[in-house]
Amino acid sequence: MLFGELSQNEAVVEKVEVAENRLLSTTRFEVDPAKVAAAVTEAEKKGYELIGLFHSHPAPAAPSSVDLKYMRLWGDALWLIMSSTDSKLAAYQLMDDKIKEATIRIE
Ligand SMILES: [Zn+2]
Repeated sequence: MLFGELSQNEAVVEKVEVAENRLLSTTRFEVDPAKVAAAVTEAEKKGYELIGLFHSHPAPAAPSSVDLKYMRLWGDALWLIMSSTDSKLAAYQLMDDKIKEATIRIE
C-alpha cells in the first residue's frame, strides 16, 4: 500500500506499508480488508491517504485484466507494478476508464 498525497498531476508517496498476500499465490493477490483499514487509519493520523497499490507480476509490468477490474473499484489510485521477469517498474492510473501510464521519479 502506498500512502502520501495525490494531486491533479502528481502522486507523492511518503509511506509504504507491506501487506501479506493471503492467497499465497504468485499470480493473484488479496489483502485482508481489516489490515488495509488499520493501515489507512494509521496513515491518516499523519495526514496521508492511500494513493496507490504496489504488486509484482511474473509477467510484463502492465495491468492484467484482473488489475483493471480492481482499478475501476479503486478510483484515482495509482497501480505500481514490477515485473519479476525483467525487474521493470511501471505505474498506471485509470482516467476516464482508460489506463494511462505515469512517469515514475525516485528521489
Ligand atoms: Zn497485477
